[in-house]
Order: sequence, then structure tokens, then C-alpha cells
Amino acid sequence: MNYQNLSGEVITPQNTDYDEARAIYNAMIDKKPAVIVKCKNTQDVVNAVNYARKNNIEVSIRSGGHNGAGLALVDDGLVIDLSQMNDITVNPNTKTAIVEPGNTLANLDAATHEHGLALPSGIIGTTGIGGITLGGGLGYLSRKAGLTIDNLLECEVVLANGEIVTANKDINSDLFWALRGGGGNFGVVTSFKFNLIDVKNVYAGPMFWPIEQAREAMEFYDKFTKNASNDLYGFFAFLIVPPAAPFPEHLWNQNVCGIVWNYTGPIEKAEEVFKPIREFGPPVLDFVSEIPMTALNTMFDALYPPGMQWYWKAHYIKELTPESIKINIEHGSKIPTMHTTTHLYPVDGACHEVSNSETAWANREARWAQVIVGVDPNPDKADEVTNWCKTYFDALIPHAMGGAYVNFMMNEGQERIKAAYKNNYEKLVIVKTKYDPNNFFHINQNIKPKG
Ligand SMILES: Cc1cc2nc3c(=O)[nH]c(=O)nc-3n(C[C@H](O)[C@H](O)[C@H](O)COP(=O)(O)OP(=O)(O)OC[C@H]3O[C@@H](n4cnc5c(N)ncnc54)[C@H](O)[C@@H]3O)c2cc1C
Repeated sequence: MNYQNLSGEVITPQNTDYDEARAIYNAMIDKKPAVIVKCKNTQDVVNAVNYARKNNIEVSIRSGGHNGAGLALVDDGLVIDLSQMNDITVNPNTKTAIVEPGNTLANLDAATHEHGLALPSGIIGTTGIGGITLGGGLGYLSRKAGLTIDNLLECEVVLANGEIVTANKDINSDLFWALRGGGGNFGVVTSFKFNLIDVKNVYAGPMFWPIEQAREAMEFYDKFTKNASNDLYGFFAFLIVPPAAPFPEHLWNQNVCGIVWNYTGPIEKAEEVFKPIREFGPPVLDFVSEIPMTALNTMFDALYPPGMQWYWKAHYIKELTPESIKINIEHGSKIPTMHTTTHLYPVDGACHEVSNSETAWANREARWAQVIVGVDPNPDKADEVTNWCKTYFDALIPHAMGGAYVNFMMNEGQERIKAAYKNNYEKLVIVKTKYDPNNFFHINQNIKPKG
């Protein structure tokens, strides 16, 4: 194949940096693309799209390469790699940012933090803004200001026919609706415009309780956060304490439960807000204090460097019941490796102020998106962490809402994708059929066009 009429750096299996270029965050994925095009600008993306379409080559889209299922890559196809498109322009007057898709959350957080602003998004700095946004975007500021898509104002998109279009509430509003949760199904987003919120320092960090106290801790968490103001966010976790500083040595390798908090209300009120939390238990570890938002957003980056084995399963959870708490404790007490964990990410608060029909993201009645992740650096542990994950997931099925957050799914089949979008699926099919009738963009949690 002659790739000469592609602009952007072109990497094929003959290049010495091919293996580096095809490496993604999840080392369980080993796909071998025919060509990786490192786009520098929107025109490079147009050229790559046109080239692949004319030559009948499958394409995948890569921003941060974090997707658990490895959807950034395609075997024998062409990868539209956006990692070098990483401009960010923050406008402190309008409290908005124009962001290219190759940025990580850490880049973006650093740029907005300078102005005392933040974008509600995920909890690990190495995640790509492209994939997280288009799938929804859950994180420490979700209860305060909604999902990332609730703060998305506009996108520039390269469609399957190579056309560059704008999508916002007024222009191509159907496309804009679909981009807010529908993933990479509709085109390559080459620029995002976001609304930013006022957040600089927060009162945040992890608190742990002994596993023997997990039932009381979950019950307390459930009740306490249900009535809390949207300024208080906390995700519940089962985990193994990392055997390293800053964790105290007596806790190393202990299986515990915990909550990672983020309070964004008036800092002088923080101690009072946390008084009942600290009185409950009390916790065996309390690292909650005033820190910059950027420190919170990157707190776990070193613990989870790229290149480990990851297997993901996920549920939406409406309520915690005595039975579901029991199941969580049963499996949360048998975490097989130190990096393996489960998190219950709140999607209530401000997320509930948007209706299911306003964006493609269709699960606003959930209180949590629960992710169960088997993780380990050692490939020999891949089966063990995968099995734990699947068993835990299966046990929770009767207590979950059906469907899952698309950004937490592996390749789980068409029924799971339909379940993720519920009543919005049919409308997504209509939008897909209009903008990508031949399903050119299908290396994703795929919404199939009609016909
Ligand atoms: C360690 C870790 C922590 C995470 N934490 C969170 C979290 O806190 N909150 C949360 O919501 N999610 C979280 N996720 C999940 C994350 O949202 C997904 O993995 C997401 O796909 C990552 O985006 P990316 O750009 O890095 O992905 P990539 O692997 O680069 O892309 C994934 C897919 O997204 C689509 N896509 C990406 N960019 C574009 C684009 N510019 N145009 C069109 N389509 C595009 C494509 O279909 C692509 O295949 C986390 C993942 C990891 C591994």
C-alpha cells in the first residue's frame, strides 16, 4: 500500500518506533495496525479519513489510548492518532476552553487551574480528553457540575465523507446530541469547546476503614451522601493498601474499604462537613485535607502507570440494598492483586438535573456507575484478575439497572451496547444513519446504522 499521499507522520510495521506507537494503556491488548497516522491538525485527519475510505481500510480513532477494550487500535487497519493535537486555549473571561483531542486530563487541568477554573472530568490524569468526553465523563466534580458532556459547548468534527462540520446546540444539533455520550460513532472530533467552573483548591483525599467495618461504612456512605449538598463528592472503593509511602506501614497490603472525597464548598466549612464522617468509624487512614484540584486529579497516576493488564466490567446502580452490600463485601474482601479494585462513582447531584433525553447518555436515574477492574502488571495474573472481575460482576447483575457506562465496557456485544443507551438507542441509530450511513467509524461501542 502506498501511504505517500497521507500527511501527518505515518508509521508502519517497518518503522523502528512501530511497537511504541501501537502501545496503549491496557497491555492486555495487542493489536497490530497496518498504519498509524500521527495527525498534527484537522486537515491531516481529513486526509486520513479520505484515504482510508477510498482504499476500503478500517479505521480506529486514538486520543489518549486509555480505552480498556483497546478501541484506539484496529488490526490491519489505519489508526487516526490524535495524540499530537494538543493545543489548549483557556479564556478566563468567558470561563471556557478550546481543547484539542490529544490532550490528557492532566494537561487540561494544569491549564485551567492557572485561572482558578476546572472542567468536570475523570479521576486519573493520563486519561485522554477525547474518549472520556464522548462517552460521558464522570469524576470528582460530577455532583457539583455534571458530566463532562454537560459542560461541552461545541465540537469540530470530521465526518466519514471527509467534511469538516461544527456541532453545537444550534448547528447540527442532532449530531451534538449524539456526541454527548455516543462515543466515536459519528466522526473524528478535532476540537472541543468546554464550559469551565470555578474550582481551585478543594478539601479532598482518601479515607479508609477496616474491611470488618465495610457493611457499616457502606450503609453510612449511602445515607450520608444521599442528603449531602452537591459540593460533597465521594466514591466508595474496596482496595488493597499499596505497600509504599505515604501509606503507613502497618496498613500495607491490607484489604480495606474506603472513600475518596472531594469537597468543593467553602473551605472554612469543610471541617464541620467532615465531622460526622470522621466520627463514624473512625477511619484507620485519613488523608483528607486542603489540596489543589490538580493534585487530586493526579493523585493515583503513579499507582496506575501505563502498561498493566486491565480487565473491566461495569454496572449502573440505583440503590444499595442489604443484599447488594453483602455481595460487594464478599467480593471486595477477595481482591486478588494490589492494583485490582472496585469503585462506585456517583452520578447523582448535578447529573440528575439533566434529563435522559437531553443527551445521548441515558442513565441519569442511576446513583452510581460501578466499575470493577482486575489490574496487575504481570501478564501471568491476567486470568486471575479477569475471573475475579467477571464473578463479582455476575453476582451483582440482579442488583444493577442493566447496561453500563460505555467507557467502562470491554467488547461485550450488541445487546450490552443497546442496554447502555436504553431509550436513546433508536435516536442514535437515526443520527448514525444520517452522518455515517456506511458505518465507516465502527471500531467503537458500535451503533449500527439502518439498512
Ligand atoms: C486508569 C483509567 C481511569 C479512568 N478513569 C475514568 C474516570 O474517572 N471517568 C470516566 O468517565 N472514565 C474513566 N476512564 C475510562 C475512559 O473514559 C475511557 O477509557 C476513554 O475511552 C478514554 O479516552 P481516551 O481518549 O484515552 O481513549 P482512546 O483509547 O484513545 O479512545 C477510545 C475511543 O474513544 C473514541 N474517541 C476518542 N477520541 C475521539 C475523538 N477525538 N473523536 C471521535 N472519537 C474518539 C473512539 O471510539 C476510540 O476508540 C478511565 C480509564 C482508565 C484506563
